[in-house]
Order: sequence, then C-alpha cells, then structure tokens
Amino acid sequence: MLIDEFLVSIPALGKALSSFFGVPYEAYRGDRIKPAELLKNLRREYVESGHWVPIDETQEGVTILTTDSERIQASRVVNNIFPKSRLVYKVCSQREFRQTLDLFYGGGASTDSGGALAGDESSMDDLLTSLGGDEEDISGATQEDVSAAADNELVKLVNKVIVDAYRMGASDIHIEPAPGKAKTQIRVRKDGSLMNYIEVPSTYRNALVTRLKIMCDLDISEKRKPQDGKIKFKKYGPLDIELRVATIPSQGGVEDVVMRILASGEPLPLEKMGFSKRNDELIRETVSKPYGLFFVCGPTGSGKTTTLHSILKFINNPDTKIWTAEDPVEITQKGLRQVQINKKAGLDFATVMRAFLRADPDVIMVGEMRDKETVSIGIEASLTGHLVFATLHTNSAPESINRLLDMGMDPFNFADALLGILAQRLGKRLCSDCKKPHIATADEIKSMLTEYSGELVNTTTWKKDPAVATKSLYEEWIKLFADEKRQFTLYTPVGCEKCSGTGYRGRVGLHELLIGTDPIKKAIQEHSRVAELLAIALEEGMHTLKQDGMEKVLQGITDMHQVRAVCIK
Ligand SMILES: [Zn+2]
Repeated sequence: MLIDEFLVSIPALGKALSSFFGVPYEAYRGDRIKPAELLKNLRREYVESGHWVPIDETQEGVTILTTDSERIQASRVVNNIFPKSRLVYKVCSQREFRQTLDLFYGGGASTDSGGALAGDESSMDDLLTSLGGDEEDISGATQEDVSAAADNELVKLVNKVIVDAYRMGASDIHIEPAPGKAKTQIRVRKDGSLMNYIEVPSTYRNALVTRLKIMCDLDISEKRKPQDGKIKFKKYGPLDIELRVATIPSQGGVEDVVMRILASGEPLPLEKMGFSKRNDELIRETVSKPYGLFFVCGPTGSGKTTTLHSILKFINNPDTKIWTAEDPVEITQKGLRQVQINKKAGLDFATVMRAFLRADPDVIMVGEMRDKETVSIGIEASLTGHLVFATLHTNSAPESINRLLDMGMDPFNFADALLGILAQRLGKRLCSDCKKPHIATADEIKSMLTEYSGELVNTTTWKKDPAVATKSLYEEWIKLFADEKRQFTLYTPVGCEKCSGTGYRGRVGLHELLIGTDPIKKAIQEHSRVAELLAIALEEGMHTLKQDGMEKVLQGITDMHQVRAVCIK
C-alpha cells in the first residue's frame, strides 16, 4: 500500500503522544480490517469532526482511536454511543487518524468505491504536502521537468491517481492544467459522468504531464502536437491494468492529458448482461448458428465490446477457432486469438480480416466496421461459411441496415448473411441502497403506456385498433411487473454514501434486438425504409431501446429520466 510508505519518523511522535496523554500509542496499519459493525451508524464527517473512531472490539472492550484522548474521555461522547461497552483509548497523530478514516470509509487503500472521493482528499493532501518542492525547482524547461517527474513523491502521486481511479470504478482520468498560478484540475468519469477528483498546485503541472508522457514513451519535448500512447501500469504500480493516453495542447501553452482505463480482465457471462428473457433466448439461438453476420451497434461507450466478448465467451469452445481484430484489445479470453490493430504499422481492420480468412477461422470478430471494404469482407466471409461479429456506430438496429446498404452493399448478399443486429445503450442504475419506492399512480402508468406505445404507431396491430393494443399492453405489464394488487412500484433516486450522493450506482444495458428473419430479409432485398423495417421487427416481437428501458423502469432497475437520456434519437 502506498500509504504505508508515508510513515516517516512516526515512532518518535507516537512515544511523545503516548506519554503526553497517558494512553498507549496505536500506529497506523494499512492492513487493518474495517470494523463494519462498530462503524454502522457513524458517518465519516461525524467521527472526523469528533476526532475519534472505533477500530476494534476485543475482550477488553471497544478500542477507540483518537488524536486527543483527554478531551474525548472527558466529554463522554463515546460512552453515549457505546453505552454497554468498556472502552479502551489509543492515541495517534492527526495524519494517522485521517489515514485510518481513509482506510475505513474508502480512501486510497480501500477497495470500497463508495465515498472514495471525499475520503481521498486528505490523504492526497498529505501526498501533495510531501511533494514539498518550491517553485524555482520546477521551471518549464524540459531537463528539469524530467528530474522533477522522476521525483519519488510525484511518482507516487501519479500512481495514486491511477490506482484510486481504477478502484472507484472510473473509466477515464482527465488532467486539465491551466496557465499561470491556477491549479491543475483532475476529474474522473464514472458510470458515464465526470466528477471532480483533486486539484494539483500549478508548480507540479509540467512535471505531472511529463511523468505521464514518460510512462507511455511519448516525446516529452513535443508539447505542441497531440500524441497518443499506452501505459502498461504493471511496470509502475500494484495493478495489472493498461491505460490509453491522449495528450492535447490546450489554451495557455499547457497540455491536457486524458487517460482511458482499459477494462482488462474477464468477459461477463451472457446471463449477467441484463438482457430481457426474449433477448437472452434469441441471442443464444442466433449466435449458435454456424455462419452469418451479427452486429452490435451503438455510440462510443455503450458497452458494445463487453457484449461481443460475452457472446464470444458463450461460443468459445475447443472445437471453434475464433479470431478477433480489436483496437484496443481490452478484454482478453483464453481460447481466442486476439490481434491488436496497429495502423502506424499498416495493420488495419481490412488487412487483418483478409489475413484471418487465410487462417482457417470458424468465427471472426471485428472491433469495428466503418467502411465499405471491411463490411464487404465481412459479408463475403459469412457467406463462405464463417460466423462474423462486428460493431457498428449506428443508433438503432433498423437504421444499421440502411446505413450498410447506403455504403453500397449488395442487398441480396447482405440479406442472406444477416443473422441479427443488437443495438445497445448504457443507462445509470438506481442505487439499490437508497432508491425510494412508491406505488405508481394511474396517471404515471397511463403516461408510460402512451410513451411506450409511441414506438408502435407504424405497426399494423396498432393501426387496426390503438385502444385494444393499449389494453393488451397494460394487461401484459400487470402480468410481468405488477404485484398481486395489480399495483406497480416505481423508484426515485435519493443519494447516499455508497453512490456518492448521486442516487445512481453502476449501469444497466438497454437493448434492441432485430433478428434477420425471412420478412426482414425480404424487406432488405426490397431496400425498405427504416420505418418499414422497424414496423416489421416490432410486429415480430422486437422491443425498441426505449421499450426495453421502460421495462427496466417497471422492474425498478432504473428510472424514466435515465431511459429518456440515453434514448435520444
Ligand atoms: Zn445510494
């Protein structure tokens, strides 16, 4: 743990504290177990301002760690909180006290992501204080930047930023320097939203950026052009993760650095993807076919790669050769042969796909198909007996068909090859610890029915009799989502420590799965418009992204606000 390394000459201080207060000194221990039972009703703010915290319960009683045992004992405040327990007091320094709170309430050394932002500031303060250098030491000159960037404390700061961001489940780290004396802002993106993390004094601006550039082998003297690279963090810190780094020169002669934490690690099994029952069954059935083309579409950050990998995990067997071309390779799977795209070296998607076709594949996964060439190779591969998976940057499943045809694909070949298209979005999940339930009013359900039906207006069932269609939809909802009193429970976000006060924690996938059925294939051959394709798919039972999201609202997983936010057309 990084924190342990800051224990400088504490023993002497501890001895002094102990003899001053007449109670034993307790040194900070990074491996201390959080006493969850004792801390149950104690908020960090409360114990921090009170300068005491329970750390353990033994036969002797509850051990109270404090920075001022005399005052705490005299106030009897702890006796009121633990009225039935004997109390044992231990003293420590202010810094150790804060470190212990960080440990318990989610700071740098904790794996609990909840409240990590608030908890980190103090230990980060320590780190910034211990950096200690004065302004003259760190000028804008490159050579001095390098030595400053190699400074032990700065190295620790950078590592801590990365480790913290990873532990709190952030996807990106944004380093935003400002010219002059203004501080460098560091923000992190978590569950799709940015939040403030820390500010670093302007004195470390250049050294910080230089350190990051050194970590990913970028040209440190080039400050006027954007650069991109990759940090293999294993070389520098305690985590085996990779970060994709982009530097961008910004106003005032400074350089911004944005780092994407690559979600290394295991693919999720299909049952954990949050598919509706229909979608789950259809996906398993569709991707079990021996050949054809399957797309996952959605904007950047909608979780397409995660979904493709969990599909590949489902079909990954010793008797199947699976080649993947990805940029970057984020998730690795045993059994897959994964190729990292390297455009600088001439290794682009089309080149790699052609190579795969000569390498006896059963399944080919292509990170993205953006142009006519890659799509053509994909169609050709699937028509010659291979299963091909790819992602597309399109909004909806029916729209993807038109986009591909507009690229100049032969409608007959494409219709033959198409197995299915899955459109996906990620919405914020209501925090399960603080979401507030209420029984939905008749008006709420009525407006949801109207909004849901708005997606169906082009279908023949709807055109025939909207009232009948709405009635049967309502009965369906009652069956699936209501309680025995035919009532629906909806939830509103509240905010608690676990969700950093936002009311949301984690995300949920919204899906729209279009299957290449005979009527769909026929419509493709006839070059049908998006609205017609959509009507056919809905008639066959497809649920649009919004409908899938609304069902997840009725299940209490998310709320309408989130569904509308991610389903903007
Ligand atoms: Zn919460």
